[in-house]
Amino acid sequence: MQSPNVLLIYTGGTIGMVNDPETGALIPFNFEHLYENVPELRQFDYTINVASIDEPIDSSEMQPSNWAAIAKTIFDKYTHYDGFVILHGSDTMAYTASALSYMLQGIRKPIILTGSQLPIGQIRTDGKENLITAVEIAGMKDLDGNAILQEVAIYFEYRLYRGNRTSKVSANHFEAFQSGNYPNLAEAGVNIFFQPEYLFRTELSAPTLVTEMDNAVAVIRLFPGINIEHYASIFESTKGIVIESFGAGNAPSNKSLEKALSDYTAKGGLLLNVTQCSSGSVSLGKYETNEIFTRVGAVNGKDLTTEAAVTKLMFVLAQNIDIELKKEILEKNLCGELSG
Ligand code: ASP
Repeated sequence: MQSPNVLLIYTGGTIGMVNDPETGALIPFNFEHLYENVPELRQFDYTINVASIDEPIDSSEMQPSNWAAIAKTIFDKYTHYDGFVILHGSDTMAYTASALSYMLQGIRKPIILTGSQLPIGQIRTDGKENLITAVEIAGMKDLDGNAILQEVAIYFEYRLYRGNRTSKVSANHFEAFQSGNYPNLAEAGVNIFFQPEYLFRTELSAPTLVTEMDNAVAVIRLFPGINIEHYASIFESTKGIVIESFGAGNAPSNKSLEKALSDYTAKGGLLLNVTQCSSGSVSLGKYETNEIFTRVGAVNGKDLTTEAAVTKLMFVLAQNIDIELKKEILEKNLCGELSG
């Protein structure tokens, strides 16, 4: 078998940062320094090329246009590489991973996002292990020469997760991510153990690229005492809203909430109901308090994470198709993002 070709795409984030000697704040540095900081990469029997997307940024600055640039870079270079590793800040990594999973469907190669909680230049960094193992996985093939991983994933602190199932759950632990509704795809110990039955396999014959996303969306997290009138401008200005409801998809029995939601769907707005719990699913019909969502015509987001829901809504809203089809796509499993 030929030695693997892996493309490293550097977008920014803590992994590629150093302390500014004057202010002490973390600032991005040139990607070449990252390579110098991980000489171990040279030991791989891999060809590793590097690409940067614009200026390195903190992932809080990520925009749909950045997702589009990353997706296009991968799509354009898809046939030249066996796998792709995206170095990315952890803060919005789960959004980027989810967005890329919709924008690049039909892939049969690994696209792995990784980053770190401590800059790679620091002695206790988690960045080296994350980067080295992500690169290793990006080049891994089965005995037939096919990539083992054929989807967008996040590798962080010894675990490989499906990207669109993941959320950042800790601002300071190295184990910063969680996949509450889907098993880990692999764990790295002395060996890297995959769970083959959980790996995604596309039914599409070739990769497709979609770069348009419509950000006329909002998220409303319900809470006891919510006064929906305070959200009037959101209902006026958006085309889609993710509602983070209670438990199995429940909401208060509140006349003004129901009116706001039904007026919104009546004028063509899309409501996507997900649970604010970090695991479990919206389960309509279970409680009387979730019937409101059926009455107002909300889409059941089942066990989508908020990150996967927001980006799926942006993806669907950007498509030039009728609203019934948009709703159908939202409820359907496109690339492993929801169960059932
Ligand atoms: N603020 C940083 C970012 O998301 C944190 C990190 O890299 O983990 O870009």
